[in-house]
Amino acid sequence: MVPINEHLNSETAMRIFAPYDVIVDGTDNFPTRYLANDAAHFLAKPLVHGSIFRFEGRLALFDSAKGTGCYRCLFPEPPPPGSVQSCAEAGVFGVLPGIIGSMMAFETIKYLLDIGRPMIGRYLLFEGEDMTFRELKLRQNKACPLCGENPTVDSLIDYEAWCGTPAMEPSEARAS
Ligand SMILES: [Zn+2]
Repeated sequence: MVPINEHLNSETAMRIFAPYDVIVDGTDNFPTRYLANDAAHFLAKPLVHGSIFRFEGRLALFDSAKGTGCYRCLFPEPPPPGSVQSCAEAGVFGVLPGIIGSMMAFETIKYLLDIGRPMIGRYLLFEGEDMTFRELKLRQNKACPLCGENPTVDSLIDYEAWCGTPAMEPSEARAS
């Protein structure tokens, strides 16, 4: 393991990600989530995505350079600062990071070893209160600002104003 003692931002992300085959986003904030998604797309690298909030978790493997969709296809822009509760405010069930984190590691190893069916084009929803898994089909969104037909995001963005906002998308976006 090679620790990197640097902030991930619009100036460092491409250089930090460049040597690696897969990007795994285990962070818990919107600025890093969008930064990782966009940098992975520009570098044409797969991104293993996981998010957690309260009793719920999400999992996907975005490979947007191959036209299979990205995080922005689902959630084009971060929610306005302060519009959603942070994990610190709303909490995360203690074992949830272990569940979603293990599945992210599982997907990453599967991808690297070319085993089984990857989570590409699929979006997994885990609802811990009911102990259920649901899977949505993820298609490339033609209107996606990053990987769509007329992209408007053509460089990395530092969403500094979103610092301290949570890792989960707003509830109204969940039905996408
Ligand atoms: Zn997209």
